[in-house]
Amino acid sequence: MKPPMVNVFSVDVEDYFHVEAFADVVPRDRWGTYTLRVENNTRRILDLLDEHNVEATFFVLGWVAERVPGLVREIAARGHELACHSYWHRLIYKLTPAEFADDTQRAKDVIEQAAGCQVFGYRAPSYSVTRGSLWALDVLAQSGFTYDSSIFPIRHDVYGIPDAPRGPFRVQTAGGTLTEYPITTFRLGTGPNLPVGGGGYLRLLPFWYTRLGARRAAAEQLPLIAYIHPWEVDPEQPRLQGRARSRLRHYTNLARTYDRLAALLALGQFSSFAKCGLGENAPMVTNLTRETQ
Ligand SMILES: [Zn+2]
Repeated sequence: MKPPMVNVFSVDVEDYFHVEAFADVVPRDRWGTYTLRVENNTRRILDLLDEHNVEATFFVLGWVAERVPGLVREIAARGHELACHSYWHRLIYKLTPAEFADDTQRAKDVIEQAAGCQVFGYRAPSYSVTRGSLWALDVLAQSGFTYDSSIFPIRHDVYGIPDAPRGPFRVQTAGGTLTEYPITTFRLGTGPNLPVGGGGYLRLLPFWYTRLGARRAAAEQLPLIAYIHPWEVDPEQPRLQGRARSRLRHYTNLARTYDRLAALLALGQFSSFAKCGLGENAPMVTNLTRETQ
C-alpha cells in the first residue's frame, strides 16, 4: 500500500495592517501606531494545530519578530519550523536585487535571533516571485536559504507564473540549488490552473471548492501546500478604509475561516516544509520560464 500523501501547512505571520491590499492607506512608517493582534491570532492557530497534531512552518515577518520575539520563541518551543516572510512586506518585483538582499538579511537575522535557531525557508510577500523577479531565487540561495515557497502557478493581478511547474522542483541558482514549493493548483478539464490551499481561496470560496481542489491535486500526485494568515481568523479586527475591492477581499468570511481551517486540516496528513520530505526527489528544472507542465 502506498503511504498517504504528505501535505504542508504554513502560516504567514503578519498583522492585518501589513497586507498589500491596504498598503496605500497604511504607510509603513505608521505600522508602529497600530495595536498588534498577531500574537493572539497566531496562538489560536497554534492551538488548532495542537488539536490536529500538525507540525507546520511559520513564515514570520521580520518586523513582527523584532517587536514580539516571545511569539517567535513560542512557535519554536511548540515544535514548529520557523521561516522568513521578509522584513517590510514589500513586493519583490518592486525592489532592486540589492534592496531585496538587504531586506531579506535583516529579516533572517531578527527571526534567527528571536528563535535561537537558523531558518532555511522563505515566502515572498504576496507571492511576488514572478517572471520579472526570478533573480530573487539567486539572492535567497546566496543568503543561505535552501527552499522557497513563493511561486503561484496561476494568472492573478498581483502575482503568479501561470506556466511554472505545479509540483515541488529544484532549481540551480547563482548561490546553489534551491528547492521551490509552488502553491497548489488543480485543473478542471483543459481549463487554466485553479488555486487551492488556503488564504483568500479558503476564506472567500465555499469549502466544497477546497475539498474538490485538494482531491483533484492529489489525483495528480500534487501535495496540498496550504497556508493561512493570522488576521484571517480574526473577525474582530479594526476595519481599515481602502479600495472597495481590497475591503471585499480582506473582510469577507473572517468569522468562518477558523472552522474552515479545521476542516482543511482534516483533509489529510500535514507537516512542515522541513519535515515533509517532498523536496528530496523533486525534479531539477533548468529553464523555469519556459517550463510547462
Ligand atoms: Zn504576507
